[in-house]
Amino acid sequence: MKVLVVNCGSSSIKYQLLDMTDESVLAKGLLDRVGIPGTVLKHEPVGKDEVVIKKDLPDHTEGMKLVLEVLVHPEYGVIKSMDEIGAVGHRVVHGGEAFAYSVVIDDRVKQVIRECFDIAPLHNPPNLMGIEACQALMPNIKHVAVFDTAFHQTMPAKNYMYALPYELYEKYKVRRYGFHGTSHFYVSHRAADLLGKPYEQCKIVTLHLGNGASMAAIMDGKVIDTSMGFTPLEGLVMGTRCGDIDPAIVFFIMEKLNLSTSEVNNYLNKKSGMLGLSGVSNDLRDIQEAAAAGNEKAQLALDVYYTRVKSYIGNYIAQLNGCDCLVFTAGVGENGIDMRENICKNLDYLGIKLDPEKNKVRGKEVDVAADDSKVRIFVIPTNEELVIARDTYQLAK
Ligand code: AMP
Repeated sequence: MKVLVVNCGSSSIKYQLLDMTDESVLAKGLLDRVGIPGTVLKHEPVGKDEVVIKKDLPDHTEGMKLVLEVLVHPEYGVIKSMDEIGAVGHRVVHGGEAFAYSVVIDDRVKQVIRECFDIAPLHNPPNLMGIEACQALMPNIKHVAVFDTAFHQTMPAKNYMYALPYELYEKYKVRRYGFHGTSHFYVSHRAADLLGKPYEQCKIVTLHLGNGASMAAIMDGKVIDTSMGFTPLEGLVMGTRCGDIDPAIVFFIMEKLNLSTSEVNNYLNKKSGMLGLSGVSNDLRDIQEAAAAGNEKAQLALDVYYTRVKSYIGNYIAQLNGCDCLVFTAGVGENGIDMRENICKNLDYLGIKLDPEKNKVRGKEVDVAADDSKVRIFVIPTNEELVIARDTYQLAK
């Protein structure tokens, strides 16, 4: 069966077509600026040249039509007809408390995705738009929702409850959910394979460090804690998000800077984090370059970033009462050699010892721990699309 994986943002459609007989990728691509002038599609058929198509498209339905056209195109397509697509897997950011697993999409599932608009206003509406566009174009096959929040649903209440009046949870489901679940799921399972131990017996700390960043503590095959919370704003320092701060700062800056609720939301999500601290960029590479050239704020941003990660490692190892491995993944985790070294420095008390020579690696699955490190340190490139495709295949076949 061939499975199409779709990830719809407010103005983008990311896709990958996989052949599930051998889990090979046949094509992938990104349609950007959907609904805004300058729509552009970058289509990468495996074994053929990349194709770039510029064509303004008004909405996700027209966008998906173009994606399907390129997939069956006689020259740069990879399948003969749309009928070869057996199922579609959709990345959905928020499934609330309703979904701990992936599900075949029906009206009830769509209603839950809609009910989560309030708590995921940037992500769930475009996710649902993508689902409806695909269902309209491919009505006779199964569509599956794979939720970013699902893997974290095993968290115990002592870790997902905030110390707020209980009625907020009862009335509005204000609690910690966690995100990047598909990525934490993939890399933690790979880590158990590399450890050669049953997944249910491993104590694993996963570090998904990309532009958005989160960590998870996994024990007995279950997530017991994760750093993102009610929204993806909580936890680590990110490209443009502040992560953990004193909530009183919110009212303080609203007053001082005369910001509305949506403005302060934008401030903490888009103007803070590494960008806000360094004043240089949200991209770690630019910040490292500036720091090397003597920019003190850039250096400070790097120091704050890795110190926050270290504090979460300590927190999680204390909760796990031990640790078999740390797993670094996503843009910074897979490629940030210096960042990995700084994060793991002076953690030998916890049994964590990185080998600086082995650590000189980018984007490859490898153990970078010193031979005498008690805790293994894996770099594992994430593959969220593969998890989505596998779940979709299992539910559709
Ligand atoms: P992601 O969100 O997983 O795509 O990660 C993107 C981020 O990874 C970028 O914003 C960079 O900060 C970081 N990144 C990518 N390549 C490198 C690299 N070679 N060294 C350090 N950081 C990198």
